[in-house]
Amino acid sequence: MKMNIILKQWTIEDKVELIALCNAVDRTYLSDRLPYPYSDADADWWMEMVELNEGKTGIFRAIVVDGRIVGSISVECDGNSRGRGEIGYMLSTDYWSRGIATKAVSQICKIAFEKLSVDCIGAKVYESNMASVRVLEKNGFVYNRILDEPKLKKGEHDNLLLFDLQSHGVTTDTKQVVKRSGTPAFPHSDTPIILAGPCSIETEEQIIATAQALSKIPEVKMLRGGIWKPRTRPDAFEGRGEQGLVWLREAKQETGLPTATEVATPEHVELALKYDVDALWIGARTVVNPFSVQQLADALQGVDIPVFIKNPVSPDLKLWIGAFERFQKAGLTQLAAIHRGFAYYKESPYRNFPMWEIPIELTQRLNVPLITDVSHICGNRELLQATAQKALDLATDGLMIECHINPDEALTDAKQQITPEELKTLLSNLTFRSKQSGNVERDLAGLRGEIDDIDSELLQLLARRMEVSAQIGEYKKHNNVTVVQMDRWKKILADHVSTGADLGLSPELITEVFEAIHQASIERQSRIMEDGNE
Ligand code: PEP
Ligand code: MN
Repeated sequence: MKMNIILKQWTIEDKVELIALCNAVDRTYLSDRLPYPYSDADADWWMEMVELNEGKTGIFRAIVVDGRIVGSISVECDGNSRGRGEIGYMLSTDYWSRGIATKAVSQICKIAFEKLSVDCIGAKVYESNMASVRVLEKNGFVYNRILDEPKLKKGEHDNLLLFDLQSHGVTTDTKQVVKRSGTPAFPHSDTPIILAGPCSIETEEQIIATAQALSKIPEVKMLRGGIWKPRTRPDAFEGRGEQGLVWLREAKQETGLPTATEVATPEHVELALKYDVDALWIGARTVVNPFSVQQLADALQGVDIPVFIKNPVSPDLKLWIGAFERFQKAGLTQLAAIHRGFAYYKESPYRNFPMWEIPIELTQRLNVPLITDVSHICGNRELLQATAQKALDLATDGLMIECHINPDEALTDAKQQITPEELKTLLSNLTFRSKQSGNVERDLAGLRGEIDDIDSELLQLLARRMEVSAQIGEYKKHNNVTVVQMDRWKKILADHVSTGADLGLSPELITEVFEAIHQASIERQSRIMEDGNE
């Protein structure tokens, strides 16, 4: 018989059933936060908490099967990380293994993404709790990492795992290729990893010699080399194609370094896989085009190879996130971001303006490793050292640096490439900070970037306000109206103070800011009255 499974909001009438559920539930995998025995007062606390926070900091539901409350499920905002929520649930033992949890998780995640401002829902689950792991995977949650708090459950060590669900596609039938064992080609390391190699693979000698020199630098963990080069103008060197892949594979065999190359079409993907390239990156010019990104994601469906997604040429965070979503939907789990800077109208010493806040915001939203491609940000050798340091200070997970055995003779990007020897010097001059303090810097840089954006909006608004005020000044002048109209000003200020209070802003702040703005307006209008030359 088909069960009727619904999620319902808690009401005070549910108290007795809540107490019964909490006292009977199997606690093997539950958080110690759930009191035992579960008393009347505990239930009162819960009902009050739910009423206060429902729809604001959390979604709380009873799991009802055929009219009976058999479990509880909630998603609560994470107070420490913006945009993240955490799911928790419990289900009475008699109702396990019937697909109820899977349905409940699917439903609550949909509600949480709609009602709370979260982009990602995390789930903590013990490794041995296979049933819950399956529930999460069926709902599109993807394994993220082991949390550092191994617990002793039933006398044995049990890892607490973190799974994440991004805000797209909450389904119960997404095929997720979750790869939790084996060595991922993007190595997890406490210090940032270095990916180095030439902009383009030019000759067999060039790539083998470069790879050999790089393999002697311990920090270098991966060899990069462009096979197909996107060039701004026609008739420039466009890469060696398939022949280059033969040499790249040879370089890997000679040095043991895993390899990475850029793919822009499904044919590139096919060839790169044929020649055992270990990781692929998607170039900045490709990421701007969702059609191309989708074609690549389709070509990679079911192949769980590491894919590094460069930021699009334009500073468009949504487009960058969209590319991640396309690959995630195709089942790829080993994704990383490459920050290579943005084309920007402002003059700057960089080839591509860094706009650090954008990659920071991306990693906060997506929880993917970040590689900083300092070569394409800088466009010259001089800025590399300082830019690499800045990236490390912001807790980057890796640096991509273009290296060539003879940079001055390089067929592409000659100005920004350095020799393996120069890379060694550059690395020895870097200060690698502890990840912990780096994360603080990264978080702060994201918030500071946000403040800068808000300030710039405030300035634009102020300028617009002054402009409108000047137009009013012109009108008053032609119609012989006085500049200051005290009654109107008093009313405006009182309204602002009251709206400000609703927004949590003090009357002093509102009064001071608006009096200064008003004063500036009066002065501007008075000047218009006096000479009309504005
Ligand atoms: C490259 O890495 O050589 C390259 C072409 O980069 P981007 O896509 O960032 O311009
Ligand atoms: Mn290049």
